[in-house]
Amino acid sequence: MSRTDLPRPKPGVMDIAAYVPGRETAHGVAKVYKLSSNESPLGPSPAVTEAFAARNVDLATYPDGSAHELRQAISRAHGLNPGNILCGNGSDELLGLLCQTYLAPGDEGLFTQHGFLVYKIQILAAGATPVSVPDTDLTANVDAILDAVTRKTRMVFLANPNNPTGTYLPVSEVRRLHAGLPKDVILVLDAAYAEYVRRNDYEAGIELVSANSNVVMTRTFSKIHGLAGLRIGWMYAHEAIIDACNRVRGPFNVNALAIIAGAAAIGDRAHVERAVEHNEAWLGRVCDALEALGLTVTPSVGNFVLIHFPKTAGRTAAEADEFLTARGYILRRVAGYGLPDALRMTIGSEEANLGVIDALKDFMA
Ligand code: PMP
Repeated sequence: MSRTDLPRPKPGVMDIAAYVPGRETAHGVAKVYKLSSNESPLGPSPAVTEAFAARNVDLATYPDGSAHELRQAISRAHGLNPGNILCGNGSDELLGLLCQTYLAPGDEGLFTQHGFLVYKIQILAAGATPVSVPDTDLTANVDAILDAVTRKTRMVFLANPNNPTGTYLPVSEVRRLHAGLPKDVILVLDAAYAEYVRRNDYEAGIELVSANSNVVMTRTFSKIHGLAGLRIGWMYAHEAIIDACNRVRGPFNVNALAIIAGAAAIGDRAHVERAVEHNEAWLGRVCDALEALGLTVTPSVGNFVLIHFPKTAGRTAAEADEFLTARGYILRRVAGYGLPDALRMTIGSEEANLGVIDALKDFMA
């Protein structure tokens, strides 16, 4: 059968470069340290295990399609109206849902040059046109984004902080971005790493959403809450956006265990605080140690750090990746983000962090 006889995906789909997840394993090493997907070295709150033990989940019945219990718990934790919250199978699902709901062929979706790759994928999957906007110093540039807006622009994605750069925009810049956008353009603030940020001039986006009908904030349980395996995300938006997305989403998009786990996790503030403290302590130590080896790191406010390697043979990012993998340390190649000379390292356990530093000492020697 020739290729032309095969069913043809709709326009845009074959332009998608499929998302490549962080590698999980390395062969021939005693122990593997996965530092490739920004997961939490602390894992989930003990309250999650307790909630599973206390609840007799009937796996034969469908979950509550409105994820009521989880939305209530999120609204309690953040002081939000549950009617403005929609939960998803990871925030990835919600990013796609927004595109499916608001983007049609001919529309443009904007994202930043080194922004999270899922935006482009989902814009293309919706049949719309992806527009990449240049960064300045690996940081989103508000003027460049506003310059790129056309009459066709329907949605602007901003990861704040951004993955994989770890850079962020202060709330004044996010407000300036919003103020410059037409009222019918949705600004999606992807705040997957919000809890880690310790900067007085940062806000995840709650106030902007509360005051405006064209801003959406997305959040995840995959990072600080240590629940990546269960796939739980949520978004906060005007009820008109929630209503439209509710029409498009799968009726049972969040599973029964995710609802229970998420509700338990978000109530355990002490666990979140422990994860933040661990990150604060190790982010600084890791960056200092890497710089002492002569490597450059981009200042990060997240739970990961972008490490830049020289182009010199024997010292490149690709070679460092091979070297580290052979010792069981799995970092993330970020060539797909336009960063061929860098590796992204998740801040891991003490053992993992010290192991990477030691290995890179040998690599750079
Ligand atoms: N946004 C950003 C910026 C991310 O880095 C990630 C995780 N890689 C996600 C969204 C998706 O997270 P999840 O689907 O696990 O909620």
